[in-house]
Amino acid sequence: MNKKAKCIKPAIIIGAILVTVLYFILTVERQQSWPKKRFTAESGYREIMGTFVRVMAVATDKQTALACVEEGIKQLKLVDNLMSVHNAESQISRINREAYSQAVKVTEPVFEVLQRSVEYSKLTDGAFDITVGPLVDLWQQAGNKNIKPTEDEIASAKAKVGYEKLVFDTEKRTVRFAVDGMQLDLGGIAKGYGIDSAARAMQQAGAIGGMIDVGGDIRCFGAPQRGKQKWSIGLQEPKTDAKGLVSRQLELVLELVNKAVATSGDYRRFTLIDGQKYSHIINPSTSSSAEGLSSVTIIAEKATDADALATAVSVMGAEKGLALIERLADTEAILISSGPEFKQTKTTGAEQYIKK
Ligand code: ADP
Ligand code: MG
Repeated sequence: MNKKAKCIKPAIIIGAILVTVLYFILTVERQQSWPKKRFTAESGYREIMGTFVRVMAVATDKQTALACVEEGIKQLKLVDNLMSVHNAESQISRINREAYSQAVKVTEPVFEVLQRSVEYSKLTDGAFDITVGPLVDLWQQAGNKNIKPTEDEIASAKAKVGYEKLVFDTEKRTVRFAVDGMQLDLGGIAKGYGIDSAARAMQQAGAIGGMIDVGGDIRCFGAPQRGKQKWSIGLQEPKTDAKGLVSRQLELVLELVNKAVATSGDYRRFTLIDGQKYSHIINPSTSSSAEGLSSVTIIAEKATDADALATAVSVMGAEKGLALIERLADTEAILISSGPEFKQTKTTGAEQYIKK
């Protein structure tokens, strides 16, 4: 080995040590640069978007923290009013009533969510599809009557499902249905979109940190409560007892900074037909409910992405779902298979967020 080569090896080692030390100093420095004096305000549980919502804001004074909590709640209500199918006045309800007879003009946030939804349909080979409305309704009615839908009923609903049957005009910001009877359902993405809107509004209102929890879909940003370096988020065990009550045990605890987490599963929302459990998530390729996973948790930067991907992976199943998430940057998944096994699998990067 010549002299030059002999010098290179130690230089690389010293360089690597320096980079590690610098990274450590910068990371710790950044965490400690949160003001020591910080106040937390929180909303308590409120009912919005058909579920329980909790907003927490951290600010350098109490007044700002309180105002930011109200700002977050306001945004969630706003998004719910625009996108809920349970509100006849929402833009989505209007689309569902009118978009076959004429192109319906929508506001920017609604147009954005529709476009993002179609992007997710393409990314997931159609597993995520906001046009599943007719199949969601059919299976819900089947649950109410306790009779499985007939082949004909399924075929008729299926003909009205498919994201490629949505016609957009980007210039005019309109949407139209190519087939009569189509129905949009934003249940798989609106909560995430609401959470991201709330986070943005809270930051603009002066929050240096915050957490928004909409029925277990959560985003945390910036500084956590005083005395903490990260936000702790517990994931429920996806089990129900004989009475259908959800387990209070935690599967695991995540420790996060500036991340969103969404969980989709069949353990909280499902219908029973003849004693068999049917998830509220529809697999558009089988026209029946998604099977195989009792809980899918996605960790991503934005709640919109985490929410849509959690729904999509529930449909895709463990193998295809994990392969997709491994491919996506800054996105991780923790899956738990259906009972009785309840087997946990996850992407390689998920471990870093799990509290030891
Ligand atoms: P949760 O509402 O329990 O948090 P999700 O985020 O997975 O769970 O959303 C499920 C909802 O999404 C369903 O109730 C329905 O409104 C809608 N949905 C069902 N199947 C699909 C699908 N394949 N793609 C997109 N949305 C779906
Ligand atoms: Mg979802």
